Amino acid sequence: MPVRFSHILVLDFDGTLTTADVGDAVCQRYAPPSWREIDDRWVRHEISLPEAQRAMWALVRLRQEEAIDFVRSHIELRPGLDALLDGAAARGIPVWLASGGFDFYIDALLGERRARFARAWYSRARFTGDRILVEFPHDDLACGRCAVCKGRVCDLARAAGASPLFVGDGHSDRCVVGHADRVAAVRGSTLARHLGEHGTRFVEFERLDELVAWLDAD
Ligand SMILES: [Mg+2]
Ligand SMILES: [Zn+2]
Repeated sequence: MPVRFSHILVLDFDGTLTTADVGDAVCQRYAPPSWREIDDRWVRHEISLPEAQRAMWALVRLRQEEAIDFVRSHIELRPGLDALLDGAAARGIPVWLASGGFDFYIDALLGERRARFARAWYSRARFTGDRILVEFPHDDLACGRCAVCKGRVCDLARAAGASPLFVGDGHSDRCVVGHADRVAAVRGSTLARHLGEHGTRFVEFERLDELVAWLDAD
């Protein structure tokens, strides 16, 4: 008989489990400045995230080994991640990762912690020399804006009989409104501003271990 969970914790990656957006940091360092114009077009809803990412990553010149060295030396995980994962495990709450980001940096930054996520969805980057081709393998979870729509991932949690709890920071995380039962947003983030402006209830945090007590709220 499948085990039923009361809650499932769905976590964004860039800017949520890290203190900076990794994709932006890599483009900032390894793409010409025009990548910003593509990102701005996405923010203005003129193109989808996958369209923006295909165009942005086509501008990047970077080899895989250097990419991994760069993220490991320039990007920090947000403090308190292990305590949050421990807190969820202690409560029998599965943790899912839902990200519009890419395997090469998510796997490099999470290391052994990757095994602590019961399920994970993110996109793929294929390196050929210093060229990067991005792939979006989760069509079934895409929406008009996202490669991996966090609202749809919350729907999967609910379909599994659990109450979805979401933690995020960015533009694309707005898709969880109406799909997650509770939302936590990085203090001062785009997501926090959006939820505040729309009168949606949420909690703000800086360290991830601040959310352990929030797991018990109802
Ligand atoms: Mg994010
Ligand atoms: Zn979406």
